Amino acid sequence: MRPSLLNPLFADVTTLPGIGPKLAALIGKVAGPRVVDLAFTLPTGIVDRSYRPTIAEALEDRLATITLRVDRHEPPPPGKPNVPWRVLCSDETGFLTLVFFRPRADWLRQQLPEGEVRIVSGRIERYGSALQMAHPDLIAEAGQDDALPPAEPVYPMTAGLTGKVMRRAVSASLEKAPDLPEWQRPDLLARHGWPGWREALGRVHRPEGREDLSPQSVARQRMAADELLSNQLALALIRQRRAARPGRRFSGDGSLTSQVRESLPFSLTGAQEQALAEILSDMDAPSRMVRLVQGDVGSGKTLVGLLAMLTAVESGAQTALMAPTEILARQHYETIRPLCDAANVSCELLTGRDKGQERIAKRAGVAKGYVKVVVGTHALFSDDVAFDDLGFVVVDEQHRFGVHQRLALQEKGAQADLLVMTATPIPRTLALTSYGDMEVSQITEKPPGRKPVDTRAVPLQKLDRVVEAVGRAVARGEQAYWVCPLVEANDLLDQTAAEERYEALAARFGAQVGLVHGKMKGPQKDAVVEAFYRGEIKILVATTVIEVGVNAPDATIIVIEHAERFGLAQLHQLRGRVGRGDKPATCILLYKAGENGKLGETAKARLNVLRETEDGFLIAEQDLALRGAGDALGTAQSGFPRFRVADMQEHAALLEAARDDASYIVETDPQLAGERGQALRVLLYLFSRDDAVKLLHSG
Ligand code: ADP
Ligand code: MG
Repeated sequence: MRPSLLNPLFADVTTLPGIGPKLAALIGKVAGPRVVDLAFTLPTGIVDRSYRPTIAEALEDRLATITLRVDRHEPPPPGKPNVPWRVLCSDETGFLTLVFFRPRADWLRQQLPEGEVRIVSGRIERYGSALQMAHPDLIAEAGQDDALPPAEPVYPMTAGLTGKVMRRAVSASLEKAPDLPEWQRPDLLARHGWPGWREALGRVHRPEGREDLSPQSVARQRMAADELLSNQLALALIRQRRAARPGRRFSGDGSLTSQVRESLPFSLTGAQEQALAEILSDMDAPSRMVRLVQGDVGSGKTLVGLLAMLTAVESGAQTALMAPTEILARQHYETIRPLCDAANVSCELLTGRDKGQERIAKRAGVAKGYVKVVVGTHALFSDDVAFDDLGFVVVDEQHRFGVHQRLALQEKGAQADLLVMTATPIPRTLALTSYGDMEVSQITEKPPGRKPVDTRAVPLQKLDRVVEAVGRAVARGEQAYWVCPLVEANDLLDQTAAEERYEALAARFGAQVGLVHGKMKGPQKDAVVEAFYRGEIKILVATTVIEVGVNAPDATIIVIEHAERFGLAQLHQLRGRVGRGDKPATCILLYKAGENGKLGETAKARLNVLRETEDGFLIAEQDLALRGAGDALGTAQSGFPRFRVADMQEHAALLEAARDDASYIVETDPQLAGERGQALRVLLYLFSRDDAVKLLHSG
């Protein structure tokens, strides 16, 4: 149960004064539904009101706060409400006109009474020779300078939500923030000069200058450290719980794996051997394995996974390989089947499409334990599939999974060891925050003889030439992918862009063109991808739904439209779809140039990274550096935690410290029972890591 002192923070924003359902909906868009979401929505800028000139000194186009005398109101003539209401003002140095469009007359006259002195703040404009200010942001009585803070925070906004209303809402949320027990270590507090939690929260919302917006300001550092500690502690608790659970030891006698190795026309790369050794050492330990294998598309993960599975089979257990789609499951099966045959191990493909007698027979084989290697989709775990003795599970391409889903999967898979394979290279910091509950192996080397993909950036104006190049490839019997952009996370627009491109290409190439997009039903999508895979379709137009890892050896060209809108890691993965056969391959990054006909600096730098290297890890690091963690994997990919304050680039050192601290905590006070432990529980609840606290109770 969440400690009651946090209740005001976890209440709905409508519990705040002046916030009704309508405003709550708008706040929900920029912050979230609860008071704590408002409190954690940090200012993105400040309005600096420290410029206090006289009228004569006032510079055009600047935000100025001026003390002046209200001389005379000039309302619009009767019947002409569109003429602005002018208020003529002055000081000893000159004249300034305040301009209002369709104001409420009584309000205005009350705010600015003729003959009195007022302080106004707003942007100075020149209109002919006269100075004016339209709709001042602030009006205060003379002598009330205190009512004018030198700086105001600026928050993320959405249509209908003004800065003023948002500021008021955030202030109200801060009033609800209680004092909380200190969970940070005293030595860290002292070393960094960090204020307490509540003090830090107040300070980040009261920036006095640009430097207070910096991620390195002490208040923001403190808040980031809290967020990272909650993340690392939750992962450490999950890890601890798993280690405490008895697993199975799979020592393996090599009887099956040696047969598979002998049947291969090549030997494993050093990186494959290294990853496999790490996996086998986990399997040989008495606790349950949860390990992630990262490696670029084509680095040979599947083979490593299979050799690990067969090691479990050597000890008599059944194993399962789960792929994210039917097509990928089938492809895996086709690769794995001959290798299993070589070792005389029975292998079966289970999909939702098996029907009738065949379905019954396959499932019986699995239930009775005859089938040792089962390949399938997630249906393997939700369906009527029962295993006799499932000991080892491999999950392929699960970068879309988050820690929560993985936790659920493990709870279901009983005692089975778990190996997750992903083709998304993940920078170390991101790996720590999202896979901190797992051990990680990396396959950083590709099998020898792979040719680099010729990567070019081409402006959209040269579309015609690109279409011709695709035409020539098709004439040579090769195939092409044509990837259409993500349009600002709008599915409908995505689809339209892809459909339009499809129609244009179909007009030129006829029935050789196919289309897949996210709105299509699974089987419908699979049918198109499979037709491409079989070579019936030559050009596959797709939104990013095209499956990672789909293997079409004749595909030699991939065109990526609006490449500037994709994350680098995503582009790299898309590129990995070509160059799998022995023919030279090309990746064309079609970009839309800016107004000046050129590509922006960042966009150019990003495309250059891609042209210069095919090392997925290097690309991932660069992407993180260029775009920041939130976007490094492309906004469309979820499964990575979103931080509110912490920034993977800026706070990398804090992350390392949080990880060490979390390990120390779990070692010294595994039940979070001590005084600091109790405070840490509050921290976990504050960052909604209720799942981790639950693990404590169930021991
Ligand atoms: P991944 O799953 O990492 O994308 P795969 O396991 O599908 O990669 O391997 C891609 C291709 O490389 C397959 O055709 C596989 O047989 C081949 N392969 C795997 N390991 C090696 C190796 N050590 N040497 C040569 N080819 C290999
Ligand atoms: Mg693969």
